[in-house]
Amino acid sequence: MTDVLLSELSRVGRDPAGGVTRFAWAAAELELREWFAARAAALGLDVETDGNGNLWAWWGASLPGTAFVVGSHLDSVRSGGEWDGPLGVVSAFAALAALRDAGWTPTRPIAVVAFADEEGGRFGLACLGSRLLTGAVDPERALALVDDDGVTLAEAMTAAGHDPRLVGADPDRLAKIGAFVELHIEQGRMPITGGARGLAGAGRPVGVARAIWPHGRWRIDLAGVPDHAGTTALADRVDPVLAMAEGIVEVRRAAAELDVLGTVGRVRVLPGAVNAIASSASLWVDARGEQPERVRELVAALESRLGVAAALESWTDVTPFDAALTADVAAAIGGEVPELPSGAGHDAGVLSLAGIPTAMLFVRNPTGVSHSPEEQAEEPDALAGVTALTAVVRRMAG
Ligand SMILES: [Zn+2]
Repeated sequence: MTDVLLSELSRVGRDPAGGVTRFAWAAAELELREWFAARAAALGLDVETDGNGNLWAWWGASLPGTAFVVGSHLDSVRSGGEWDGPLGVVSAFAALAALRDAGWTPTRPIAVVAFADEEGGRFGLACLGSRLLTGAVDPERALALVDDDGVTLAEAMTAAGHDPRLVGADPDRLAKIGAFVELHIEQGRMPITGGARGLAGAGRPVGVARAIWPHGRWRIDLAGVPDHAGTTALADRVDPVLAMAEGIVEVRRAAAELDVLGTVGRVRVLPGAVNAIASSASLWVDARGEQPERVRELVAALESRLGVAAALESWTDVTPFDAALTADVAAAIGGEVPELPSGAGHDAGVLSLAGIPTAMLFVRNPTGVSHSPEEQAEEPDALAGVTALTAVVRRMAG
């Protein structure tokens, strides 16, 4: 379903499966950048692209004080839904349009932001625009990332007319951000304070985020003895694929026991021949949950089952949102607002880790399905999100 809010963007990057594919610095995403500039210009906002490719639309840039920033991202995963990202940007513009039409004027600068390459769908590193801005990623490393066609980020930026030499930490810009509120489509049916599953379970159109769950990725390598599938007796084999299978089952078992999420979404078997016992097998574990110690317990259970140490590839500790700002956001939209955690990372989390007060608003997704063409929100809920965001901007920048 396409909501009236998203109708201007709906056809951009549309694929035959019904999803949208809007990779950073590729044609569809560049079209959305043009849309952003036009939408901002129509509202009389000043548009700029920062050195990391993030888009900013300013209202009252010359006003004193730090900016109140609202927005999200425009890129998508491959064949994703059309709500993840654009809803936050479209709602931000809609909120400012409503305030302007009502004759309201800000007392501090306001910016609508669209962070570049949030999904990492093309170069494999999520929240790239916000991480570069805050200095959380080394620019040299980022520029050398390659997509599936062997194109580097530097080359993709250059082809899109953006100078890659401008990429890197931007403390002056960061210092201008007084607070950031990201509105986002709800993802999953996460536990709400009080016990309901998701905003649908709570019967509410809009909620606020408590925190982003801690999140780790580990790799386990299992060694085998390669041999012929037709000549090696079962008793003589050292087959790492069997251990890998046990490991995958253990991840699921331990996750259920510990009440966390554990996923093996990637495995590699070498040499990968049908008629050979493998020389090695690797599996990657993605684990997240409310409590970091339980996430680590899952990995410990896996290590003990396989008798092999897991190599940590990345770890992001629990990312809290700003309690005072979240209370302000809740007060602006009527006080009693459901609170839910996010199992997914967001630019708001990156800014929060950089010390910026941040909060998130979620708009009800009846199924919880995300990163899929099935992702959706009902139009009244999307409009409730705009109303909420409008009230937040009015309270925080009026
Ligand atoms: Zn998103």
